[in-house]
Amino acid sequence: MKLVPAIFVLLTFGISTVTCNNEPEKDGQPNILYIMADDLAFQAISAYGGRYKDIAPTPNIDRLAKEGILFNNVFCTNSICGPSRAVILTGKYSHLNGFYKNEGGDPFDSTQVTFPKLLQQAGYQTAMIGKWHLWSQPTGFDYFKYHTDNGEQGIYWDPTFNENGKPVAEKGYATTLTGDFALNWLENVRDKDKPFCLLYQFKAPHRPWDPDSSNLDLFGDVEMPFPSTFDDDYATRELTAGKTMMTIEKYLSNRDLKIPPPEGLKGKELAKWNVQGVRGEYVSPSDTLKGEALKRWKYQKYIKDYLATVRSLDDNVGRILKYLDDNNLAKNTIVVFTSDQGFYLGEHGWYDKRFMYEESLRMPLIIRYPREIKAGTKSNGMIVNIDYAPTLLSLAGVKVPGEMQGQSFEPLFSGKIPAGWQNSMYYHYYEYPKWHNVQPHYGIRTDRYKLMHFYYDIDVWEFYDLEKDPHELRNSYNNPEYKDIISELKTQLTDLQKKYKDTSTIEEMREVTTKGMVTY
Ligand code: CA
Repeated sequence: MKLVPAIFVLLTFGISTVTCNNEPEKDGQPNILYIMADDLAFQAISAYGGRYKDIAPTPNIDRLAKEGILFNNVFCTNSICGPSRAVILTGKYSHLNGFYKNEGGDPFDSTQVTFPKLLQQAGYQTAMIGKWHLWSQPTGFDYFKYHTDNGEQGIYWDPTFNENGKPVAEKGYATTLTGDFALNWLENVRDKDKPFCLLYQFKAPHRPWDPDSSNLDLFGDVEMPFPSTFDDDYATRELTAGKTMMTIEKYLSNRDLKIPPPEGLKGKELAKWNVQGVRGEYVSPSDTLKGEALKRWKYQKYIKDYLATVRSLDDNVGRILKYLDDNNLAKNTIVVFTSDQGFYLGEHGWYDKRFMYEESLRMPLIIRYPREIKAGTKSNGMIVNIDYAPTLLSLAGVKVPGEMQGQSFEPLFSGKIPAGWQNSMYYHYYEYPKWHNVQPHYGIRTDRYKLMHFYYDIDVWEFYDLEKDPHELRNSYNNPEYKDIISELKTQLTDLQKKYKDTSTIEEMREVTTKGMVTY
């Protein structure tokens, strides 16, 4: 008689279980959904607050923060796409993983130890979908499908992918396609008896910021707020910040600004017209729009397109979170949301990244993992992107190899900062002069101070007291008030270089930049 209720349950709920394709929550190894955007500034995520939060909210990314932990002090070691990706995969600095720069560098050495490889060896089903941008074919994945156009930068419309070694031309909008492929892999391709690790990596919101057709006029005539440093004059930083080719005023192209080409322009002429602006050529949508008004128009156009591409990104975060909900996977899946580096949304008058200044040094990072993280937690503990791989491995119960230079930041999940937690980080950027003419530099950032050395064909030190000068507008290196602090920071900087084995001479560092150098 006791069987009757069991059969009843099986008949009524068992059928719906099959049709919904639900899976039991599994104990043991958690699934990992690693979501990474490209060039996504924390300033563009409403969970981080900021000036666009009410105009351009990101409800799905915010949901992760509401249900998990938001990290405020996360830094990359080399603020540019490929290099940051290589650091994240290997847990090692650029000088040890060998991927220093996007232009003129070597392809990623895919024989290296990476966290997906170790997870695969530990029984995980692994996949990488979307942007890869490391030039060598991915290793350590049971499945991959990545952008191949434009030197693997990818394109927004009708992109071509490499799917497990075969070229595939797709039709549609890249961000949505990436979502489609990820959902397809989760539902139809993976082995559902194994834990999974999916790297869900978007091209968006990378240049040239092409919104989906439904989002072309998403923000209408609303005036986007300007950052307080938009009109930075680069005083005290003339040879560094003052020498870039990344101001919104002068270095956005016709293509970036979506200025329609003259009628009848085709082939090479059209291509030439499209890139006009990248070397500072004069670009304007009309004969009458000039000077200050033109500069402000360019910012509005840039930021609206950028935030419109973020909208699609947020939508496709929502799609996959819904999949986890609908398939009873939310509880046992660690969801990581991040970007390969930060980005300038008009701060200092710029777009792009590269500098050790805050907006490009900082990475957004949000993690949801209900088993270990209380909803709505925030942390100011310092994290560096070398820490990502050790953290994910630890959470999966996989031994972290000694060669990885980071440490698991699982102790920060409580929201408290353990005594003795890291409070300084080391940075080193190499690519020069293309793109954007940013001098190679290395430096240290502590809780309060930042010291940088720009060294390629100049010899310039910069120092900032982030408490007194949070926007880094006054280089205080020569301020006698800071003499002792700077001296102490130099010692700490040398110690970090030794700790991370970046002990090359300046000559050897310059050689990394010179080798394969791409000029304008
Ligand atoms: Ca990037």
